[in-house]
This record gives sequence, structure tokens and C-alpha cells, in this order.
Amino acid sequence: MNTYNLNPKKMEKRQAVRKCADWESEIRIRQWEGKEDALKQIEEDDAEHQLFTDGSGIEGMVGSSAVLCKEGRRISSLRMQLGKETEHEVFEGESVGPSLGLELLKKERHEGVEGNEAADEEAKEAAVRGSSPKQLLPHTFRKSLPMSSSAARKMFAKELNKTRDDMFRQSPRFMRFQKVAEGDATSVARKFQTITKDLVKPHISILVHLRTGHCYLYSHLHRIGKIDSLHCLACKREPETVYHFLLQCPAHQRA
Ligand SMILES: [Zn+2]
Repeated sequence: MNTYNLNPKKMEKRQAVRKCADWESEIRIRQWEGKEDALKQIEEDDAEHQLFTDGSGIEGMVGSSAVLCKEGRRISSLRMQLGKETEHEVFEGESVGPSLGLELLKKERHEGVEGNEAADEEAKEAAVRGSSPKQLLPHTFRKSLPMSSSAARKMFAKELNKTRDDMFRQSPRFMRFQKVAEGDATSVARKFQTITKDLVKPHISILVHLRTGHCYLYSHLHRIGKIDSLHCLACKREPETVYHFLLQCPAHQRA
């Protein structure tokens, strides 16, 4: 962790959760088919209180919010800025929301503004502008949250990729590769690595020969001055290129 400049004290600790096979949640969960269905269900719901929570990642920051409504009217809200997207994930924002909501239910203060999309708005507001006053937040959230390990992994991978790209750009291979690459050589190289990651070196080598045309076919041997004619020996009609050899030449059609 020291190598990667991560402070273990600031990192989240994940506890294993074990449940019996027949465990059932005490919370009733309903899923809705899309936004319209959800809005309809919200309208039909006759509970006195409705709580909306959301998490949001915007402008490189992560925020969380909860909005409490009573009889369809917004009465209070809380928001919390979790921190930078490099240290926190949006789903953390989503999971902090319900705790903020419980805090609202405990206090149930009166403000009186309406709105269903309020939670979404507030979560964005939390990400960009910051938290509600500290004394209003639940106790556990008054200090900053530990750093998310998956966010740390993502950030580390991003930095590692950047270092790799920088090193590649400075290597003499880069300019040579740029001549044959269609588009930006760095992203082509990255794509090439992904495509060939399960292949053995001799196979990669054959692929490169075929794609670049640098192989023992006559058109290439002719280009580098090894033979006089570039024409295909089998059909004697076309230059013996990779395309001709594999796909065009009638002599190899049954191969
Ligand atoms: Zn031929």
C-alpha cells in the first residue's frame, strides 16, 4: 500500500457477512419497471411519509441525499458530499442515502417544498456544493468516510495505464507503430494487447506478418529486392499480396 501511496488507516475495511441459506430480509423490496411505473406507484402509495434517496457522481465528486415527503409535500432534506470520485464510488452515495433518510425521519422538521425529483437534485447538489450542516448529519457521517477500496483500485489502474501510455509514447517504437496504426497509436496498441492477450507469441507474430504484409509472399520479397517478379506463381495474374494469397487466388480456393 505504501508503494501505491495509500494510507491503510484511511481505507475502508470490508467485513464478511454470513447468513443462513433460508435468510430472508425483513425489508420488503419492490422493483419497478422503469420510471413511469415507479412514478405511478409513488402516486398510488398512501403512506403518510415517503422517503427518496439518491447518490450522484458529477464534476469528479460523489454526493448523497435524502428527501422526506409528508402527504406528497417535501418537508425536509439532507445531503452529504462523500468526496472525490477517485476515492469514492457512486454506489456508496446510493447506500449512504437511506441513513440520511433515517436521520430525517428521526427529526422530522418542517420546511415545506414539493417534488419527486428532489432527491436526484439534492444528490447532485451534495456532490458539487457539499454537505448539509454537520450537526444535522447522522453521527457516523460527521467525519469523512473511509476511502473505497474499489475506487482506489480503479484509480490505481487508471494511473498505471497512463504511465504505460506515457512510456510507450516516449519509446522509439511509438513513431514506427504510428506509421502503420490507423488512428492514435497508443489506443491501437492498447486494443492490440487486449485482442492478443490469450495468444502465444508465435501466433501473434504470424498475425503481425499478415496484417503488415511483411512476410514471405512475393509482393514483399519483391519490395525488399529479393526477387524480380512480384506476381503470384500459382495464377500468374496478380501480385502475391496477403489478400490475394488468402482470399483471391483461384489456386488456393479449395484450401
Ligand atoms: Zn494467384
